[in-house]
Amino acid sequence: MALRVVAEDGRQWWLTEEVGRGGEGVVYAVADVPALVAKLVPRPSDPAAYRDRIARLVRRRHEPRTVRLLDGAGGGVAWPRVPVTTVRGGVHGYLMSDLRGRYRPLEDLLSSDGRRSRLPGATWETALRAAAGLAALLAALHAEEYLVGDLKPDNLWVDGHGEVGMADVDSWQFADGGRVFRCGVRTAGYTAPEAVGAPEAAPSRAGDDFVLAVVVHRLLMAGLHPFAGHPGDGGRYVSLDDNLVHGRCRLTDHRSVALPGPLPPADLLPGRVAALLRAAFGPAGRSAPGDRPRAAAWAAVLHAELADGRLRDCAENGRHVYTAERPWCPWCDLARRGGEEYPAAPAGAAPGRRPPRAPRAADTAWRTT
Ligand SMILES: [Zn+2]
Repeated sequence: MALRVVAEDGRQWWLTEEVGRGGEGVVYAVADVPALVAKLVPRPSDPAAYRDRIARLVRRRHEPRTVRLLDGAGGGVAWPRVPVTTVRGGVHGYLMSDLRGRYRPLEDLLSSDGRRSRLPGATWETALRAAAGLAALLAALHAEEYLVGDLKPDNLWVDGHGEVGMADVDSWQFADGGRVFRCGVRTAGYTAPEAVGAPEAAPSRAGDDFVLAVVVHRLLMAGLHPFAGHPGDGGRYVSLDDNLVHGRCRLTDHRSVALPGPLPPADLLPGRVAALLRAAFGPAGRSAPGDRPRAAAWAAVLHAELADGRLRDCAENGRHVYTAERPWCPWCDLARRGGEEYPAAPAGAAPGRRPPRAPRAADTAWRTT
């Protein structure tokens, strides 16, 4: 049955099919307005506070600092536009841009199936560009004193050029009028170590910075989570977060985990990127949140890797891209060892096929200045 929602000024919209669902909310298409979707949150822990949060975010959308943030994000942030309430049942939510017209869920760039079927033009350069764009966007919203709090691939979007988008702005943490609107959501595998097992721990900028490093690792290592693997001492695997708190990370201690291979080699990472990842995931980064690389540092380092001369095209396969620091192609190496190259060969492609290289996109991801 279609839902009808109403705004404070009496405008009404019919909601049609469900197009997404998360831990707290459900997203619906809006009849006759293809550029918008509606997010409804049926059971917020404090309905009055949730309504207040949405109203303040909608108002802040017109304030200069937030306008600048949204302009820099190039339309990629699905900011709440209009608070709405269902005509029947009084469920609150808001209308926002529909990111689906331009973007795919980030998970499509992180999985081999997603890349093959839904982002067929994506190369490792696309992933590097997405990592740089995400870092820049996070740095920009930190500069405006927003915290994401529940940063994770499920809230992130990407297009075929590596431009990123963000949804679920209603869970961000911000202060407004002397009141702090806390982010109370977190996700296993995307939580900073100081907040694992500490549900009352407040979200922090350093927590966002940690999870940024996790997502950057996944982007650049063909989807591999930095804390994936069975304990290297033969112990029982419990969870990614358990590996995290015990420092089981292939990049910082390759004997700490056992992973089925062949995997993308750790040395496919440019040296400066690997150094930042080790700083985030090593003992100092895990135990001293303030010492972690910040989003702005990530953005600078990742953008530098997109500069002329920093990427190399494979001579064997025009779609393989890798850092100029490596003397030969890691994806050809991986394919020879029986692993999956990046991007994977299209289904049914003849062995040895050498697709031509696509023209490189202009470097447009840094737009926050
Ligand atoms: Zn190659």
